[in-house]
Parts: sequence; C-alpha cells; structure tokens
Amino acid sequence: MSDLDWNAFHPETRAIRAGQRRTPEQEHSDPIFATSSYVFQSAAEAAARFSGKAAGNIYSRFTNPTVRAFEERLAALEGGERCIAVASGMAAIASTAFGLLKAGDHVVCSRGVFGNTVLLFQNFLSKFGVATSFVELTDYAGWEAAIRPETRLLFLETPSNPLTEIADIRRLSELAHDRGALLVVDNCFCTPALQRPLALGADLVIHSATKYLDGQGRCVGGAVVGPNELLEKQIYPFLRTCGPALSPFNAWVFLKGLETLHLRMRAHSENAMALALWLEGRRGVTRVYYPGLPSHPQYALAQRQQDSGGGIVSFEVEGGREAAWKLIDGTRLLSITANLGDVKTTITHPASTTHGRLTEDERRAAGIGEGLIRIAVGLENPEDIANDLLRAWGE
Ligand SMILES: *Cc1c(COP(=O)(O)O)cnc(C)c1O
Repeated sequence: MSDLDWNAFHPETRAIRAGQRRTPEQEHSDPIFATSSYVFQSAAEAAARFSGKAAGNIYSRFTNPTVRAFEERLAALEGGERCIAVASGMAAIASTAFGLLKAGDHVVCSRGVFGNTVLLFQNFLSKFGVATSFVELTDYAGWEAAIRPETRLLFLETPSNPLTEIADIRRLSELAHDRGALLVVDNCFCTPALQRPLALGADLVIHSATKYLDGQGRCVGGAVVGPNELLEKQIYPFLRTCGPALSPFNAWVFLKGLETLHLRMRAHSENAMALALWLEGRRGVTRVYYPGLPSHPQYALAQRQQDSGGGIVSFEVEGGREAAWKLIDGTRLLSITANLGDVKTTITHPASTTHGRLTEDERRAAGIGEGLIRIAVGLENPEDIANDLLRAWGE
C-alpha cells in the first residue's frame, strides 16, 4: 500500500491520491508501465521473487505497477483490504467464481443480474459441477429457501438492471453469514461514490470498470475488492495461473477516471433525478423506475443504502415495442447503445437487446415489458436530454 492511511482521508481525496507511487522521474500524473517483464539485479533476486520470499514485480500478467496503483485506489474507495484488477467485469466475476468455488458447491444468484453473469453460472460453472439457483432480488424468503448446506456464494446486483430494484445488502449479508456463505455484490451501477457494500456486510465487491469507473466509454476492465485472506489465497492464484490480466494502459485510464468519480456520480444522479421527475408527469409514460423517486417501491431503503439514485432511469411507454422503438429511433442526441456509465446519455430497448435472449415468459416474469426503455443518463445538460425525447415524441 502507499504509505498514507487512506481511511483518514475523505473519499474524494482517496479517488485522486490513493495508490500513486512516484518514480525517480518525479512525475505528477501516474506513469504507465508498458512492460511485460522486469529486470532483476541478480539471479538470487529473481529466485527470491519467484519463490515469494521477496515482494516485487515479476511479470505483468500478475504484477504491474500501473495496475497496482488502480487496485490500491479502488480498494481505498470501497474500504477493502485488497483489490485485484482484471481484464473485464466478466473476468472479475469469473475469477471470483473459479477462485472460490469447487465441484459440489452451490451459488444463489439474483435473477436480474447482467446477462453474461447468468450465462457464466448456468453454462460454464455447471460444467465444473457448480450448481446455481436464481431468485428474485427482493424476495428474502426466496433467498433463504434457496440456500443449501453446500451454498458458498450469494451473488447480486443492486440496483438491478433495468428496473432499478434495490436489495437490502445488510440483510442479505446477515443471511449469507448465518448460513456459512459469502455475499458478493456487483457494485457497477452505484460505484463506491454512492454505495459501499463492504461496509454493509458484503464480503466481496465486483466492478465492471468499463462503466462508471472509466466514465467515458474508452476501455474494458474489471476488479474484485475484499479481504486479503480471500483475494490473496484464492482469487490471485487464478489471475496468475489463468491470466485474465488488465492492460496497464487501461488501468491508467481507470486511474484518470477515478479522479473525477465523485463529481461525475453526483452529476449523473442529479441529471437522472431531473429526467425521472420530468418523465413521471408525462402523457404516454405509464411508469418510471428510479430509486430517487418517492414512488419507487424501495425508496426508503435506497435513501438509507445509497448516497443518491445513480444514473439509470427506466420507463414504460404506452404502445409496446412499436412505440418504444419509435421513440428511440426519433432521438438525435442520445446514443442508441446498450452501454452505460458514460458521460454521453445512452438509450436502450432492454426487451430486444440486453434481455433479448430471454424467452417472452422469462421477460414477463422479470418485468421487462415491450414498452420499457432504459436511459443511462449522461452529463449533457438535462434540458437537452429531455428536449431530444420531446422531439422524438413529435412535440
Ligand atoms: C457491464 C457489466 C458487467 C460486465 O462487465 P464487462 O466489463 O463488460 O465485462 C458486469 N456487471 C454489470 C452490472 C455490468 O453492467
């Protein structure tokens, strides 16, 4: 770790300063170590590094100073002892799963998680003898009933995508611990600027750094944060052996992204709140999903658990898919893409994109209607975002 105790500093300060180690060149911005390998002073030093007797860089698949700086900064923000950064958000989830689980283990996962997370558990971990049960995010009796003696992990995302349902992290962490399991929270939507799952009892936090940590849609990356005990002994060996390494250039982009994380997340939330309020009063909009709205079913929990509502707003329009597609196609400013976490506002039709692989019945059960639209609200002026929708509505 860097020599300062980052716990003594406010989060905005940690986001800018934690993890940086200057080189003898005395650079002010973080350096990019574009190197695959490192030179040892002697054969004895090489032997000491490889055997683990001496700390230090060995090879950039598992030791790189730029990647380490990003890891330390993100760990300081999440309040975790250790962070392991990897090549993508999916690599973070896969590394966690393959690092912690063995044949015969069982996972309970909320149904509404990122599509590839479902596929990882269903199609890949199943091949290695790990079974997964899927439950509704906010059905606590369902979580409890799904846990078996061999359940090792509870996995969830809150807020959920795209309906922004909120799960009580503390309650589910207590349930997990009572039953001898670990709680893993994918904190991609809130980031540590708005929600710190470890402080609420979660054991591990997952990130797709691709989203808000970068914040400008440039690089793909991911991370796991949690106690040294789990990360060092179980997940790090997976990285070293199986190799889903993060590029130092991408780590550097994420370091730059983190410097403005708090400012951006507050602004995303403000813009999203303004848009959600505006949408809630509109003709042709039957429902708005946003955790900052008092009409949100878990509004009180969201107020307690998150610093603000975040950047994702979903809403249901009258007229099903035809009306939803017409609105999306009529926008000129907003980007039609399923990505999120960018300063640029994006608009998505979940039923035919992110959730298109589900059957119609599965989508209905998940509450993903044909008239549902998701907006990942960016940092443009919110009036321009609303005006683009007005134009698309022909008003
Ligand atoms: C995007 C995303 C992921 C996967 O991250 P990648 O960086 O695309 O691999 C995982 N979880 C959530 C919630 C995401 O939005």
